[in-house]
Amino acid sequence: MSSRTGCLICGAPLHYFQQERELECVLCHRKFPANASCEAGHFVCDECHARRGLEVIREACLQSTSHDPITLMQEIMENPFLYMHGPEHHVLVGAVLLTAYHNCGGELDLPQALSTMEERGKQIPGGVCGFCGCCGAAVSTGIFVSIATGATPLAAESWGLANSMTGKALERIGALGGPRCCKRDSFTAALAAVEFAREHLGVTMEVPEEVVCTFSRENAQCLGRRCPYNRANHK
Ligand SMILES: [Zn+2]
Ligand SMILES: [Zn+2]
Repeated sequence: MSSRTGCLICGAPLHYFQQERELECVLCHRKFPANASCEAGHFVCDECHARRGLEVIREACLQSTSHDPITLMQEIMENPFLYMHGPEHHVLVGAVLLTAYHNCGGELDLPQALSTMEERGKQIPGGVCGFCGCCGAAVSTGIFVSIATGATPLAAESWGLANSMTGKALERIGALGGPRCCKRDSFTAALAAVEFAREHLGVTMEVPEEVVCTFSRENAQCLGRRCPYNRANHK
C-alpha cells in the first residue's frame, strides 16, 4: 500500500520485532523500547510522531486556499505522520474547518486561530468517545465555533452556538454506531459543522458531492457497507 503504512522517514516497509528492543529515535535521538523499525533501521518515537503530525496539519492549513474542509482533511489524512486512529484528529477537524471558513470569508486571524485550535484540541484525550460519550472530532467542531465566534464560558450567544455545534456533531456520530473510526467520525463532524456554519455563522463552505473513504482497508474495525463513506456505497 501507500507510504502511509511504511517508514515515516524513507517509506521502506516496516518490520516488527518479536521482542521489544531499545532504539534511538531518528528525530529526537532519545532511546525508547521499540517494537518495529524500517528495513534501514529508522525508528520514530510516539512523541515525535504526534508532534510532527500536528505540524503537518498546521503547515497544510496555512498553505491551503481551499473552500472545502473535507477534501483538505482527506489530503492531510494521507500524510504518514497521521495515524489511522489517534487524538490528532481532535485538532485536525477544527483546523480544516477554521481554514475553509477563513478562505470563504469568515473573519479570523488564521495563524492565531490554528494555534488556539491546537492548544485546545490536544487536551482532548484519546478514547473519550467510548469512555465519556463525547467524541473528540465532535468537540473539535465545538472548538471551531468557539474560536470563530470568540466564545468564552461567560459569553451568551456564542456560548450557546459552540455547545449546540458539539451536540449536533455528536448526535450524528452516535447515530452511526461504533466501533469508533477516527476517519468516519471526522467526516461526520465536519459535514455537520459546514451545515451549522451556513445556518448560524453566515459562511458557506463547500463539500465534495460524495465523501468516499480511502482508509477502509487500514481499519480493522471498519463498518464496511454500514459506513456511509464506504466505497461500496458510492459509484
Ligand atoms: Zn526508513
Ligand atoms: Zn523522538
